[in-house]
Amino acid sequence: MNACDVGRERVHAHFDETPEAPASEGLRLHFQTCPGCRELFDDLTILRDALRARPSISLPREDLEVVWDRTVRRPPWLDARKRAAVAAILVTGVSLSTLWLLRSPSVPQGPTAAELARAEAQADLVLSYTARALAATRNAATRDVVGSKVSPAVRGTVPADLRRH
Ligand SMILES: [Zn+2]
Repeated sequence: MNACDVGRERVHAHFDETPEAPASEGLRLHFQTCPGCRELFDDLTILRDALRARPSISLPREDLEVVWDRTVRRPPWLDARKRAAVAAILVTGVSLSTLWLLRSPSVPQGPTAAELARAEAQADLVLSYTARALAATRNAATRDVVGSKVSPAVRGTVPADLRRH
């Protein structure tokens, strides 16, 4: 793992652990030599602020029931793998459109080293969100579906900490 991978990991850790705090001294020092990480940090700051600026609307109970009916209490033909695939496609689409919106409007002649680093960091971001969404979908499907009516194909793959008795 090179220094930039470490830097990006620290940027993600910053937003996971202390999303309100300004960049630490260590991060600021790293940004002086790593424009990719600096831009990743700036992009995540914009994304965080944009998401927080959106109004928070609570889901009415009846809508929640519909969601449960269409997901966890789904018809048998819609298996967990399909749901994971749909979730991955949705998350990727949302992430890509977000990154598209965050792009700078100016179009330079060719990619600079900083732009290449930024593109790599953004690809990492999309992949990391997709992986997290897939993991969350898999865990939810395992926990909520396997508890009562267990598909033979799924039985035996449930981690002990997700089993419901
Ligand atoms: Zn870096």
